[in-house]
Amino acid sequence: MAHKVIILGSGCAGSTAAIYTARANLAPLVLEGREPGGQLTLTTEVENFPGFPDGVQGPELVQLMRRQAERFGALYRTETVTRVDLSQRPFAVTTEENLYAARTLIVATGASARLLGLPSEKRLMGRGVSTCATCDGAFFRNREVAVIGGGDTAVEEATFLTRFASKVLLVHRRDRFRASRILLDRARANPKIEFVLDSLVVEILGTAKSEVSAVRLKNTKDGSETVRRVDGVFVAIGHDPNTKIFEGQLELDNGYIAVRGGARTSVEGVFAAGDVHDTVYRQAVTAAGSGCRAAIEAERFLESEGH
Ligand code: NAP
Repeated sequence: MAHKVIILGSGCAGSTAAIYTARANLAPLVLEGREPGGQLTLTTEVENFPGFPDGVQGPELVQLMRRQAERFGALYRTETVTRVDLSQRPFAVTTEENLYAARTLIVATGASARLLGLPSEKRLMGRGVSTCATCDGAFFRNREVAVIGGGDTAVEEATFLTRFASKVLLVHRRDRFRASRILLDRARANPKIEFVLDSLVVEILGTAKSEVSAVRLKNTKDGSETVRRVDGVFVAIGHDPNTKIFEGQLELDNGYIAVRGGARTSVEGVFAAGDVHDTVYRQAVTAAGSGCRAAIEAERFLESEGH
């Protein structure tokens, strides 16, 4: 029997869609994906989600959302979708374990960390190179690390890492930041953070034991190269949408799912929510908002189809 709603992804967008569709009695099935809970599980304190005046930990916030969805009958499964067939209805959704049929799909597969693309980065990944300060920061107690990037993530991670590291180099390829003022001011006031601007990482150097020992940086203004000794490198240069399985089936815009009217995709009955379609805001609260929108659209679509 076809599920009325299958939600792909269990971050803020997916779980909000689950709360709404569960409360509409649609018994949504949530396929959690490779990163259950999504990007919020990789952050620490969330200070800007309405309703939490004292802040809330990212992992706790998604856990609360999940509990709320389950309370109304949403079913979560730790499975990752490997293939979808949107050419006919019900849609076919294949995971490593099962094959499902769905009358509507809500795609909330989010985005994943972007990498610099250096061979040395690949070789030293997990051996001093990381994309998640929350996960790996504690390994760098009293050591020196570099954070790469100039957005909110990089600046926030640099500040977070000063809890452990003795020194944090914040390496950015320009001298202007995308990061918000409040986070930047906080980082600038932190004596452990050194701003290294107009600099590209050209190589991550390793020791004989295959651990990070330094970064080779190139100044974008005068072309000069310097080697800075560090024990860890945190790559925080943004994310790419997880849309590979939809290529050729859903209209994409620069890799992100193209939507119209808020949540509708190019295929009737398929809706998108969260970072997988959001190139502008990418906030927990906007992801939640778009999850709500996708859920309401899915509900209306099912109603119009007589389900
Ligand atoms: P982002 O805003 O896209 O910033 C990515 C940064 O990485 C940019 O500074 C970019 O440099 C740099 N970069 C990209 N590719 C690079 C490369 N190949 N080599 C070197 N540098 C590279 O990504 P984000 O910081 O992950 O933030 C994503 C979204 O989440 C944003 O909307 C942000 O506001 C939100 N966010 C919010 C919070 C918060 O409010 N507390 C925390 C985290 C994230 P250029 O500037 O030169 O392009």
